Amino acid sequence: PDIERLGVHDSVESVFPPSELADSLSDLPVEVAVIGDDEIDSCDAVVTLEHRDAFLELAWIHSIQAGVDRFPFDDLEERGVLLTNSTGIHDRWVGETVASYLLAFARRLHEHVANQQERRWEQPAWDDGFTLPGTTACVVGTGTLGSGVAEVLGSLGVRITGVRRSGDPVEGFAEVYASEDLEDAVADADFVIVTLPLTEATRHLFDADVFGAMADDAYLVNVGRGPVVDEDALIDALEADGLAGAALDVFETEPLPAESPLWEMDEVIVTPHCAAFTEDYYRAIGDLVRENVERFAEGEAATNRVV
Ligand code: NDP
Repeated sequence: PDIERLGVHDSVESVFPPSELADSLSDLPVEVAVIGDDEIDSCDAVVTLEHRDAFLELAWIHSIQAGVDRFPFDDLEERGVLLTNSTGIHDRWVGETVASYLLAFARRLHEHVANQQERRWEQPAWDDGFTLPGTTACVVGTGTLGSGVAEVLGSLGVRITGVRRSGDPVEGFAEVYASEDLEDAVADADFVIVTLPLTEATRHLFDADVFGAMADDAYLVNVGRGPVVDEDALIDALEADGLAGAALDVFETEPLPAESPLWEMDEVIVTPHCAAFTEDYYRAIGDLVRENVERFAEGEAATNRVV
């Protein structure tokens, strides 16, 4: 596409200040400006968190997330709008967040923080705590997120298995299963970590059968997308002690509704879709946008193209 004016849509505000990104791109040979909904038609391209129907008139949309399930692929294709995403940048950030969940469960940090809120001095039972070396994590989705999780947890002594569609080997994973063998893959894991995108094939992939296949003392972590997990089935499994606990960054409805039982469960850690938040986020987005603007100027194909 021929880009003259690139808008940084103000919906990115919930992840980083739009002006930081716009300023860092000010030396590009295209005009870059922070825009609201009323200025979309002044641009030919946009960097955004959310989707707007008015984007269908543009030449190029760049999503600041890796997950692009909120964009209407068919409409974009029909209108000839290029969509690129931000996969490839979240490995270490999400990996460290997942390590912090596992360390919290193993070393009981979430329990101590809850007690601290009540000014309560209460030591855990002698056999509540454990350490990570020798445990196994099954990482479902072996892409950027999954590989980052594998690298950080691997450095803590966790044995890593994985699940992807083909079952082909991936560096950093001791064993990789094909998606049709998901129930076998999760059966031996102490932690099952969801790093999948939301697609027709992954919606409610984690259901009562999968939770039934997991060990009763295993933990579920979801940093992929909420609807990949059947949340009612997860709540049932937690209430029936069919799982030890869960750490959840993404939910079927976000923000998580106040009435959700997940808020009050002792062995559930809730984080508000921020597993990848970091002060460096806008810089990594800037690098991706810059690379594509330069590629377009040279007549080359886009990197991270989705549609
Ligand atoms: P990638 O495309 O790098 O990785 C996705 C992986 O999922 C691929 O390796 C693919 O492997 C695998 N996969 C896809 N479909 C299936 C399936 N049906 N069964 C088994 N495996 C499957 O994406 P990222 O790792 O960058 O991001 C993954 C998702 O994580 C994003 O789509 C987004 O929704 C979410 N995300 C969440 C964040 C947060 O803040 N919580 C931050 C960033 C991303 P193969 O092709 O081999 O099957």
